[in-house]
Amino acid sequence: MQIDVLTSGIWQTTTTILSHAGTCVVVDPAYFPRELAAIAARVAELGRAEAVVFTHGHWDHVMGHTALPDAPVWLHRGLAEAIAGGDPRAARYLEDAREFDSRWYVPRPAGHRWPTTLCGLGDGERVELGAIAVRALDLPGHSPDGLGLVVEDVLLVGDYLSPCEIPFVDDPAAYRRTLQRLIDLLGRDLREVIPGHGPRLTAAEALAIARADLAYLEKLIATGHRRDVAGARAIELPRAADVVGMSDHHRDNCAKVGIALR
Ligand SMILES: [Zn+2]
Repeated sequence: MQIDVLTSGIWQTTTTILSHAGTCVVVDPAYFPRELAAIAARVAELGRAEAVVFTHGHWDHVMGHTALPDAPVWLHRGLAEAIAGGDPRAARYLEDAREFDSRWYVPRPAGHRWPTTLCGLGDGERVELGAIAVRALDLPGHSPDGLGLVVEDVLLVGDYLSPCEIPFVDDPAAYRRTLQRLIDLLGRDLREVIPGHGPRLTAAEALAIARADLAYLEKLIATGHRRDVAGARAIELPRAADVVGMSDHHRDNCAKVGIALR
């Protein structure tokens, strides 16, 4: 299996092309039109797109399927149900993309829409996508619809374990459980981790990030239990503290444990 990772100009968002024997699986094709054209061109060089996979429903990960219109899209079963059922959460994801594109004059001729062919995956499920076998992991916490993929000895992890940012927490308890699970997995026979934002990681690098993030989550949750506003403010960010906006993300995380930082 060959792995190509293409990196978007926004937030180092990664698109992963897994290819083997002429079939390609494209994970999170993103984001700008010329980047999507480059992804489609690379797939054409390698063979054909057997499947697209979304690691979760956030807008920056789900717009690129229109560049590979013949491929069915695999995603978290809960997201497939949310889309099919017209859940406001799924509508919000599309609206977020629409707002971003509008703000930055990004043309999106294929529109802001979900794929027509959705294939839901549950935890532990194994599927053969052409010549590529993948195992699905349910990874809630950053969003309720997080889907990890284990492909041979590589883990694609969506918006966890990024070296570029702190955890963006939707559900603190679920996020902590997911990190514990990832730490357990990384201690076994994985070689490489591909996060949704930032460079490819060795398993050891990813494990170090996972442990730092778990320590951050533990502190966040503990300060929430104590209603400790000063303690929450004093939590050291695990990385990227000098990145503009990261302290705002920490404030959002504090709100998720019931602490309002001003
Ligand atoms: Zn996300």
